Amino acid sequence: MPAAMPAESAKPTVPCAACAGQAHADEAVRPHHAPHNDQTYDLQRCPVCGLQFWWPLKADPSVYETEGFEAYVDYHSGARPFPRWSEPLFHSLNGSGTALDIGCGDGAVLSRLAAAGFDPHGIDLDTKSVRVAREKFGLRNVTARTLDDYAAECARTGIRFDLITFFEVLEHQDSPRGFLSQVAALGNEGCSIAGSVPNRDRFLARLDRRLSDGDLPPHHFLWFSENSLASLLTHAGFEEVSISKVGALPFSSIVTKLRAIVARKASSWPIQMRWVSKFLELMTPLLAIVPWVGMRAAPSHLFFKCRTATKSTA
Ligand SMILES: [Zn+2]
Repeated sequence: MPAAMPAESAKPTVPCAACAGQAHADEAVRPHHAPHNDQTYDLQRCPVCGLQFWWPLKADPSVYETEGFEAYVDYHSGARPFPRWSEPLFHSLNGSGTALDIGCGDGAVLSRLAAAGFDPHGIDLDTKSVRVAREKFGLRNVTARTLDDYAAECARTGIRFDLITFFEVLEHQDSPRGFLSQVAALGNEGCSIAGSVPNRDRFLARLDRRLSDGDLPPHHFLWFSENSLASLLTHAGFEEVSISKVGALPFSSIVTKLRAIVARKASSWPIQMRWVSKFLELMTPLLAIVPWVGMRAAPSHLFFKCRTATKSTA
């Protein structure tokens, strides 16, 4: 869709991905050129709901099969650690029934849901991850297919779910309202919904984006704050929306990661520099204090919980 030029402003605008607002380019952020598809994207900001999103807003599914990002390499090898941003789901689980995990990856979340008593179902676009989910966790109802295809089949067969989760999925969507309406249609009345997105205001977000393309298009299109995420879920018709910040690493994990970084860097240093690496290694508990405090002030992810409408409140 071409950018429109409103009469009252010289700034070109585009329709917001989440609400009826008109967004405009954030001039403080440089356009992103993605080598993957040779496309240049501009970051837009909606003045109504606060969402930031990249334009042109058009997903490119080929990015999920090319192993262009480290996370997918881990998924494919079955070595991805359990996603810590999904932990709050397991603190508040009550009841059981049929669960659907959209973008189930290697099946780690579904496997925990199965252990908690749910009948686990999952879909993912990535065939290699689905193979890991089947082989590593023995999940049978996990398939590589699009949500469109799966939703059409569920509509035909009448299958509905009591719990629907999507961790690290919403930020990939080029039509989040359309995605959430498909989710709502897959749920039973009052179905529990939960998931997570990256916190755009997380500690060291800028450094993170400089070191990796993972938070940029054509991988991630939507950048959420707590308010813009709550606004999207509420506008999509979900009830009892709650958002919490999650994902801060424990102190010991930060120390371990810092030690690994020092060891990696030091491996290419000359032998006379060995004392520097020893010194830095001894200092890692002190150095870890800054990221530990930063991650508590601005954690890496936003966990959300809500429900589809019930008859009494619809
Ligand atoms: Zn908006």
